[in-house]
Amino acid sequence: MSAQIINGKEIAAAIRAEIKEKVAALNEQGTEVTLAVVLVGENPASQVYVRNKIRACKECGFINREILLPETAAEEELLQKVDELNEDPKVNGILVQLPLPSHMDEDRVIRRIDPVKDVDGFHPQSVGALSIGLPGFVSCTPAGIIQILHRQGIDCDGKECVIVGRSNIVGKPMGMLMLRENATVTMAHSHTKNLKEVCRRADILITAIGKPKFFNHEYIKDGAVVIDCGINRDENGKLCGDVDTEDILEKAKAVTPVPGGVGPMTIAMLMYNCVDAIRLQRR
Ligand code: NDP
Repeated sequence: MSAQIINGKEIAAAIRAEIKEKVAALNEQGTEVTLAVVLVGENPASQVYVRNKIRACKECGFINREILLPETAAEEELLQKVDELNEDPKVNGILVQLPLPSHMDEDRVIRRIDPVKDVDGFHPQSVGALSIGLPGFVSCTPAGIIQILHRQGIDCDGKECVIVGRSNIVGKPMGMLMLRENATVTMAHSHTKNLKEVCRRADILITAIGKPKFFNHEYIKDGAVVIDCGINRDENGKLCGDVDTEDILEKAKAVTPVPGGVGPMTIAMLMYNCVDAIRLQRR
């Protein structure tokens, strides 16, 4: 039997439609939702990401503020911009597009964002809140994966979940969220021994390593759900994930494709966080 290909685009569109309704209801009560997006420099990939985020903002009925700083801007200038946005009561969410130019300290910039406006969920306070179950923003890609699992009716309770990759924005928050779902969680990384065997334990395998088509059928347990976060280019320059999707179709029960799987969920969850910001800011 061939695996189900999970349609992340469709799930993301449903979430954006729900958000649009919530925003319309907020607007009726006189509340607007405003996201400020800060882009430093002209990194082409970042420009595409920012453009997509702004398009999603418009679709959901948000007010959008785009702040462009030149590549040569001093870190202090960016920090001052963040301070202004922190203090502006009309701004609900602040997103500083990463990566920043090499002369800037990303950690310092992220720490400067007011945690109640940290819609990317990267601030140490957001990360800490997630790990001890307090309210706060959750990093968008892992939050999107939880939505995929819930909306596909995939029960995580008591399941073996293996997450490969332990970055601060994907792997680690993913681990915390899967614990919250009552899965038995294994975090694997580049030092993990016998990775194939470890992955073959997984009822739910989540891959976030950034290596094109690394995971083939040898890593997959029969009937596993495979969630592929990777966004990579194959040898022909074509977009692909960390998983060799074709090769695992006969073993897995369900798999997210790349493109069209986890990717679209990330922006949908950013929109979700912006609406949630209103709730957190009212507390
Ligand atoms: P990082 O480069 O920050 O982290 C990669 C992780 O993978 C590290 O923990 C590393 O281990 C581990 N790793 C690398 N090689 C191996 C290996 N051979 N075996 C086991 N573990 C390995 O990546 P990110 O988390 O930022 O991104 C991962 C992928 O997800 C990328 O393709 C990225 O483009 C994509 N991504 C997609 C998003 C989306 O919207 N869908 C959002 C963010 C990322 P160690 O810690 O030991 O070095």
